[in-house]
Amino acid sequence: MPDRETHMPWEATRRALAGELAEIDGVLPGSVVLRQMRCGKPGCACKHDPPSLHGPYIQWTRTVDGKTVTRYLSDDQLTRYQGWFDNARRLKEIVAKLEIASLHAVEQYEAAGAPADDSSTPSGSRRRHQPRQ
Ligand SMILES: [Zn+2]
Repeated sequence: MPDRETHMPWEATRRALAGELAEIDGVLPGSVVLRQMRCGKPGCACKHDPPSLHGPYIQWTRTVDGKTVTRYLSDDQLTRYQGWFDNARRLKEIVAKLEIASLHAVEQYEAAGAPADDSSTPSGSRRRHQPRQ
């Protein structure tokens, strides 16, 4: 790919990450955990020592208007929505990488002697950052 002067640095990396973002077509909030639990029945095996707990149940927990909302999913439901839970984690990873690539781009752009955007700086004394060898 030709590296044209007009492009910001790190373009290939940033474009690749933007392409990954474009593949995300669903994101579900919250977290999914497998949980085993006790019931309210007296004398149930879940009260024995050692206990025989119920489950595991697939518990989906998320925050809605500051409150924790829990919902249980069947195996089929988890299979159906797993990709969207995975996407939520992927989205955060891609955004973090895109931030790093963009910060590198800014540093490289500035180091290459980008025009200062401070118009009050006299042009004769404009500082130009040279890349360190
Ligand atoms: Zn029980």
